[in-house]
Amino acid sequence: MSAFDAYCDLEGTIKGSIQYDEPMARHTSYRIGGPASLFIECSNIADIKRCFEVISDHGLPWCVIGKGSNLLVSDEGFKGAVITLGTEFKAYSFPNVDEGQSLLVSGAGAILSTLVQNAFKGGYSGLEYCVGIPGTLGGALFMNAGSGQEWIGGVVQSVTVLAPELGLKSYSAADLPWNYRSSGILVGEVILEAKLNMQKGHLPSIRAKMEGSLRRRRKTQPLTVPSCGSVFRNPVGDSAGRMIESLGLKGFSIGGAKVSEVHANFIVNDNKAKAADVIEIIMHVQQRVKEEYGQELQPEVRFIGFS
Ligand SMILES: Cc1cc2nc3c(=O)[nH]c(=O)nc-3n(C[C@H](O)[C@H](O)[C@H](O)COP(=O)(O)OP(=O)(O)OC[C@H]3O[C@@H](n4cnc5c(N)ncnc54)[C@H](O)[C@@H]3O)c2cc1C
Repeated sequence: MSAFDAYCDLEGTIKGSIQYDEPMARHTSYRIGGPASLFIECSNIADIKRCFEVISDHGLPWCVIGKGSNLLVSDEGFKGAVITLGTEFKAYSFPNVDEGQSLLVSGAGAILSTLVQNAFKGGYSGLEYCVGIPGTLGGALFMNAGSGQEWIGGVVQSVTVLAPELGLKSYSAADLPWNYRSSGILVGEVILEAKLNMQKGHLPSIRAKMEGSLRRRRKTQPLTVPSCGSVFRNPVGDSAGRMIESLGLKGFSIGGAKVSEVHANFIVNDNKAKAADVIEIIMHVQQRVKEEYGQELQPEVRFIGFS
């Protein structure tokens, strides 16, 4: 297995770009992470298929990411290929289907906030609660992103994925379980496109809902320091942030990482944190919550490059 040989084989055969030994700190909202052997931005489906061929020929592990806003990448990086979606996956449109109804048809590489803003401008309701969530549509679908009450899975009509063995496959919304922060889309399936059900809405109501969400976010989240959003999933009927705060862990720090003083479920990169610092805090928090509440907090953040 040689990533450099794979790099040579890919070079000149895809429309997108390939970086060798690319620091993942450049591609995560945490600004943390060692190098990926290959970082490949695929422009179109042919590019992804070509990557699958070369990755398989060289026996490389691979993963797909969006904007890296829910990721912790190890300090050693990822000895494999990281795939991300480029130009042709960023296109979107709002075709009318019926009186008062509409669809949002979008590539999975589109930035969620762009979709939310354009839905608003067009007077379409359905994504207001996604305002302020960083990342791509693909990441949001994989994670079933949303607020405590509403998730993007609730407006999905269908999702198209590509997987090495399966080829192209379309899921209707009902084919997937859409649970809290999980869609049921499998690791190893690259989300390419989705159709979302939108409603023609009342502009002032859409704006009011978006402003309410943004106000809440600005008041309760540390938005000026690098983070990955909520680190832990909320246990059923409780809040990870409340539990962590109750243990006096706000401000608890290891190396450059710290439990946010603003929201205890955020571990922020306070000062050149290493992934190892974040991991130590995660383990400490899990242990303290287990001792006090008998509850095993499950990470919401996704890990890359840890064995
Ligand atoms: C300040 C801040 C606030 C946040 N607030 C919220 C919030 O309110 N609600 C919420 O739900 N989340 C929140 N998040 C977390 C994060 O923004 C979401 O999970 C987001 O949807 C991730 O999108 P992404 O493109 O960055 O995905 P990434 O972080 O790059 O990837 C996340 C996961 O999705 C998978 N993935 C990404 N793209 C694809 C694809 N095309 N095909 C298959 N799999 C894919 C990756 O493999 C990975 O497992 C917040 C994060 C930050 C930093």
